[in-house]
Amino acid sequence: MTSATTDPWIDPDQALLQGRWRKWIGGAGNHDLAALEDLAGLTTLAGAHCLDVAFHPAAVAAVRRGIRWALGQGAQRPPWLMVSLNDGEDPHFRKASFDPDRCPTACPRPCARVCPARAIGAHGGILDDRCYGCGRCPAACPLGLIVEAPIELDAEAVVEGLRQLRPDAVEIHTRQGRTDAFARRLEQLARAGVPLRRLAVSCAESPPQTGDGNVPFGPYLWSLFALVRAGGWRPLWQLDGRPMSGDLGVGTARAAVDLLRRWRGHLPPGPIQLAGGTNAATLPLLAREGLNRPPAAGGVAGVAYGSSARTLLVPWLEQAEARGRRLLDCRDLWPAALDQLGSLWRAR
Ligand code: SF4
Ligand code: SF4
Repeated sequence: MTSATTDPWIDPDQALLQGRWRKWIGGAGNHDLAALEDLAGLTTLAGAHCLDVAFHPAAVAAVRRGIRWALGQGAQRPPWLMVSLNDGEDPHFRKASFDPDRCPTACPRPCARVCPARAIGAHGGILDDRCYGCGRCPAACPLGLIVEAPIELDAEAVVEGLRQLRPDAVEIHTRQGRTDAFARRLEQLARAGVPLRRLAVSCAESPPQTGDGNVPFGPYLWSLFALVRAGGWRPLWQLDGRPMSGDLGVGTARAAVDLLRRWRGHLPPGPIQLAGGTNAATLPLLAREGLNRPPAAGGVAGVAYGSSARTLLVPWLEQAEARGRRLLDCRDLWPAALDQLGSLWRAR
C-alpha cells in the first residue's frame, strides 16, 4: 500500500482527542468535480480524518468516489464526510463572474494570474464550477468588471439536502452577532433528523462593531455552545484565522494560531481545529508555541487545510487534465502527489 500517513489509522474521534486530527477542506463553493474527486482520493489515502465539502449533491458524490478509490488503494478507514453551511453572508459562500465581451482585447488578464483555482481561462470568463469565491480576482481587475454573488441556501433546501446527502458531520460558518440566524440553521438540522458525529462551528474574529455584531468572539461561541448542546449535538470549534489564504505564503499560518492564543482558555468545551491560512508552517508554529499537545493538555485537536493542500497538488492535477484523465488513474503521477500531501500532514 502507498500511504503518506505517519499516524496509525485512528478513528476520527480518537484523532480529535489525541490532537492528531487532519481535515481537508474542499471548499464550500467549490464544485470542480474532477479536482474534488482527485483531492478526496489522495487526502483520504494520506490519512485525513474528515473531508469538508460543498453542500452540493454532485460535489458530495465526487468526494465519495474519491474515498472509494482510496479504500481500494489500502486506506484503512473512510474519513468523515462533512458538508458546510452558512447562516448569513460569508466569504466562503460566493462566486465571482464577469462578461468577457467587456474586456479590452489587450488586457494582460491579471484576474487569471491571481486565481488559485484555475477558474479563469485564457479568453473566456470564470468557470463557475471551479470558482470557490476566494475574492482575489475582483481586486485584480483594473476596470472593476468582476462581481461577486452569494450562494444562497434556503431552509427547505437545507432540510431536503441533508436528508439526501446524509453527511457524518455538518459545519456552520457564522459571524459574531448572528445567534438568531445560527439557531434557525440548527432548527433545520433538527428537522432533517440526520444523526451527526459532530457539529462544527467555523468563525473568524470580527473587528469591533456597533449593534448586534458587537459581541466578543469568545462569548459569542459560548452562546452558540448553549444552542448546540441543547439540540444534543457535539461541537467542534473551527477558529478561522484568515479565510482562504493558506496558499499565499507561510505568514498566513500565524493568523489562526494568534486567534487561538488570544482566546485559549476562554472558549466553550469541545475540540478546536485551526483553519484559515493554515499551511505547512502551521504545525511547526504550534510546536514553537507549545500548543502541539492533546486538547486535554491545553493543545488543539488538529488542523484543517484548504487552499494550501489544493495548491500543492496543482502541478499533478494539470498533468492529469492534459491527458484527459483523473489524477487517480495516473499511476505514474499520483504517488508523488500523495507524498507532497504527506509533507503538509507530517510537518511538525
Ligand atoms: S480568483 Fe477566487 S473569486 Fe476569482 S475566479 Fe478564482 S477562485 Fe473565484
Ligand atoms: S482583469 Fe478585468 S478586464 Fe482584464 S480580463 Fe480580467 S476581468 Fe477582463
